[in-house]
Amino acid sequence: MKTCKDISSLLSDSMDRPLTKRERWAVRLHLLICRHCSRFQKHLHFLHKAAERYYPTENDKHPPS
Ligand SMILES: [Zn+2]
Repeated sequence: MKTCKDISSLLSDSMDRPLTKRERWAVRLHLLICRHCSRFQKHLHFLHKAAERYYPTENDKHPPS
């Protein structure tokens, strides 16, 4: 069983790289039972979206102005 520390580190990783099937399962299972990590994930997604808005990546679909 993974700890909250493991899960939060995986959640951060998932912003940079796709997680493996096993990692995704571990995260999903953990989020079902852990409100803290669930909240952390929402927070991360929010930050990630906000960061994308201010610092668009090359993968961004918006055309250059
Ligand atoms: Zn947790």
